[in-house]
Amino acid sequence: MISVEKALKTILTDAKLLGVEKINIINAQRRVIADNIYANRNIPSADNSAMDGYALRWADTKGATKKNPVWLEIIEEIPAGKIPQKKILTEEASRIMTGAIIPKGADAVIRQEDTIRNGKKVAVLKPVDKKKDIRLAGEDVRKGELVIPKSSILSPAQIGMLASLGREYISAYKKPRVAIMTTGNELVDISINPPPGKVVNSNVYSLASLVIDCGGVPLVLGISKDNKSALRKKFAAALKADVIISSGGVSVGDYDFVKDIMAEMGNSMSFWQVAMRPGKPLAFGDIKGVPLFGLPGNPVSTMVSFEQFVRPYLLKIQGHKNIFRPSLKAASAQALKKDAGIKQFLRAIIKKENGKYIVKTTGDQGSGILKSMVAANALIVLHEKETRISKGGIVTVQLLDDSLFTANSFLGGI
Ligand code: AMP
Ligand code: MG
Repeated sequence: MISVEKALKTILTDAKLLGVEKINIINAQRRVIADNIYANRNIPSADNSAMDGYALRWADTKGATKKNPVWLEIIEEIPAGKIPQKKILTEEASRIMTGAIIPKGADAVIRQEDTIRNGKKVAVLKPVDKKKDIRLAGEDVRKGELVIPKSSILSPAQIGMLASLGREYISAYKKPRVAIMTTGNELVDISINPPPGKVVNSNVYSLASLVIDCGGVPLVLGISKDNKSALRKKFAAALKADVIISSGGVSVGDYDFVKDIMAEMGNSMSFWQVAMRPGKPLAFGDIKGVPLFGLPGNPVSTMVSFEQFVRPYLLKIQGHKNIFRPSLKAASAQALKKDAGIKQFLRAIIKKENGKYIVKTTGDQGSGILKSMVAANALIVLHEKETRISKGGIVTVQLLDDSLFTANSFLGGI
């Protein structure tokens, strides 16, 4: 048996970047950008007004009060988008709207609320400081500045920034196409009410969702029977993918042929008994050079193995830097027991109570019990050496749900 760490290290050593492609930024949310983005222009491009009001010379407003306003002559109307034509001289002002370019000669804007208009004249009711309510050219972004560093996971704000710089297309790391193949003579399609001894092929749905969650594109290959020629055919169909995932057929049963086919059709088959529960059997290698993860078939084992091995791999080949789920320490709501020498992942709910994280298992931990995975937002990770955790003892918890970062009960915590 090998440790989870050793298996992960081998897998990640094999994880090579997929390469880059040009994409339209409208499709760039959560994509990993492959270039540094420097500003090719100033934003804003010119000094402009932050308010609806009047552009003027600040020195003219000295001493202005409601009782003793300063009267200025209005020489021009400047809506947003118009180039001002007239220079402001002393005791003059131009009507200006938010975003419009500041006319020559003006060095401040007075807000409309602090004025009274009377035909071609405006009464200024209070003094303004120099540069008041002027947005300076380049105050948001300076030409030449690094605005988005390479390897960022693009957010809506960054995509807005790219747009304001006129970058309609960018280079992003490619999304992996992930072939998903499920094996088992007992499997039936979702549309079938399974007769005794048969089970619905649910893994293809959970695996496809996990692939999408990691930024990949699932290619569903369907069910393969547990015989070598069926497996060969399905694997041959998977060769158009960047990565292949299979579920089932990697244990030591008489019909577990996935590893035989990997040995036959690939170059680098590794089959491990990984010291973990659930998910002990794991095959990793390739089919004609396309990397293949042979995951165990039990619905929870397949998901936990994906979480530990496939997720970091898929994130790494897309250029992500943070490839692991966040972990934190929490107090166990119950006493826990396990065998020494294996790493155990328990499906659990973590909550914040009175400022402290408390974690509790979600019920039966059998590797076929999907319900306890359904209820879980985290996995308790019991390390190899740990055998007993007392109630209230501190355990490591791997978070499965990003939304925890924003959920009320977690605010300020992580
Ligand atoms: P295996 O790893 O092939 O020995 O499969 C172990 C058990 O997992 C099987 O007996 C099935 O009950 C279940 N199983 C395997 N493949 C799937 C699948 N695609 N969807 C749902 N359950 C599965
Ligand atoms: Mg099977």
